[in-house]
Amino acid sequence: MLTAFRRFLEFDPEVRLPSIKLLDVSGFFSALDKFQRDSFRRLRRRYPEPGTDSFCKLVALKAANAFAADYHFRNRHAALVSRPVQLQMDPTNACHMHCPSCLHSANAAWASRFDWPSATLGVGEFDEFCNEFGPFATGIALFRDGEPLLHRRFPEFVTLAKSYLLYTLTSTSLSMRVDAESLVASGLDRLVAAIDGASVATYSRYRRGGDFGLVIDNLRAIVRARKAQSSQKPWLVWQFLAFEHNVHEVEAATRLARQIGIDQLVVAKPHSVEHDDPSIKVAEAAPFGETLFSEPRNWCESTERASVTRNAERIDAIFSESWADRYGAIGRGERGSRPANSTCSWLYYSLTMDAARRITPCCLPPMGPPEPRHLVYAKFNGKNTAEVVNSFDATLARRQCRSGRPSDVDLARRLPYCITCTENPPPPMWPDVAGYLLSVDERRALPAAMHVALAASPLFARSPKP
Ligand code: SF4
Repeated sequence: MLTAFRRFLEFDPEVRLPSIKLLDVSGFFSALDKFQRDSFRRLRRRYPEPGTDSFCKLVALKAANAFAADYHFRNRHAALVSRPVQLQMDPTNACHMHCPSCLHSANAAWASRFDWPSATLGVGEFDEFCNEFGPFATGIALFRDGEPLLHRRFPEFVTLAKSYLLYTLTSTSLSMRVDAESLVASGLDRLVAAIDGASVATYSRYRRGGDFGLVIDNLRAIVRARKAQSSQKPWLVWQFLAFEHNVHEVEAATRLARQIGIDQLVVAKPHSVEHDDPSIKVAEAAPFGETLFSEPRNWCESTERASVTRNAERIDAIFSESWADRYGAIGRGERGSRPANSTCSWLYYSLTMDAARRITPCCLPPMGPPEPRHLVYAKFNGKNTAEVVNSFDATLARRQCRSGRPSDVDLARRLPYCITCTENPPPPMWPDVAGYLLSVDERRALPAAMHVALAASPLFARSPKP
């Protein structure tokens, strides 16, 4: 099996290691150590100014981690040396709205099926999460099933994530009081506002408990704050879910979005919510797709590259750890490749934490009876990173996802939901590592062949299940 990493080594004479048997796992991780050092040297040559050392180490580390994740995925390993390339996190599990089909629905019969405790994450707890996972990852979605902007200290979460050069995205109803100045100052990269209508009456049919006027005022305030701070961030997206009751307002929403100064309008087809409210029907015909009002721009600014120096000590420590040693620490249990059975790529590139520090592999929320979904595979305590990534349930899920045959021992306990899951939800953002590296490495220190190899990786392609 020819991995993206191996192809890259063949392309790039500076880091070629012809005698390494790359299908031998320990050989691969030794080669990866050399790759990381060589990548750092290349970056350092192109960014020679004082104060760029941490930036260069961080980028080399993230690139190496992406190749490690790709390697594990192609070989269907159950235990991983890599860390998640993409993160998702709920600042709070709460939401003040009650949209149909959501786990915060006013329909108690539906909402009570979810295993969803109320919780709010402390900034210190998120700092620990960033220190452990931030150096390896390329992006974080700061939302899942809670309303992220209900957390008064949300901008601090963004700033912490940015200090590890993570691309940051959030999705919100914007239907609450928002400190637009702090939000813009945080450096948030992308904000998706969920607004399914262009009038109070239409909007309120689905966004129950939302205040359309407040949402529009908040959008205008964010646009004003961007101008006042001479910032182009966050990139503002108006997301319009098309139902039969609101599809006639897409045109009015487009006009309003342009007039406010939104960057992009997305008209999307939602999942059916009729199991919760039969009166709300998905529109079969609508002008689905996106309208751009602004030119796409690079999210990574030079001030962000410089800001990683605040974590210099942590970055240094992780950069100097060897991949080969990390492999030794997981017990050298993964010796070679296995057949490319069907599996789920979420298990290899992603990690999600809710505000109660519960770790799940993807964006699906855990559920209780009558159709339980056992998805809480670990709990993060601030230090147990390796156990979180390679928890009993996570490794069992990776192993059995491959074989599809749980053993008798497995069947005697609560099975990870992944083993029987067929849901395959789209991620909040695609793990586009090649695109990420092109954005952060503006001087093109890393060779084009590396981007080609990463873009060709099946793990980072737009097809979650191969
Ligand atoms: S198999 Fe299903 S539950 Fe498991 S990570 Fe993939 S999409 Fe999520």
